[in-house]
Amino acid sequence: MILPIDLDIYFNNLRNAIEELIMAVKHTPTGEVHRGTKGGRTGCGFNTKEHPSHWVNTSERITCAKNGCKN
Ligand SMILES: [Zn+2]
Repeated sequence: MILPIDLDIYFNNLRNAIEELIMAVKHTPTGEVHRGTKGGRTGCGFNTKEHPSHWVNTSERITCAKNGCKN
């Protein structure tokens, strides 16, 4: 038997995993959109904590062509 609480945790983990894959963060000085979220690292390795004011979460398409950001 699956308890409702287990399903909750399961779907939360699933949603987090999907968000990690599709979330994008924009570097405002260059306008480049990277894979990742504000407060973490971009797919290509930038630390968004170093200049927090330069980064915003976005739903725009990823434009960075470096490994880790592009598919
Ligand atoms: Zn990138």
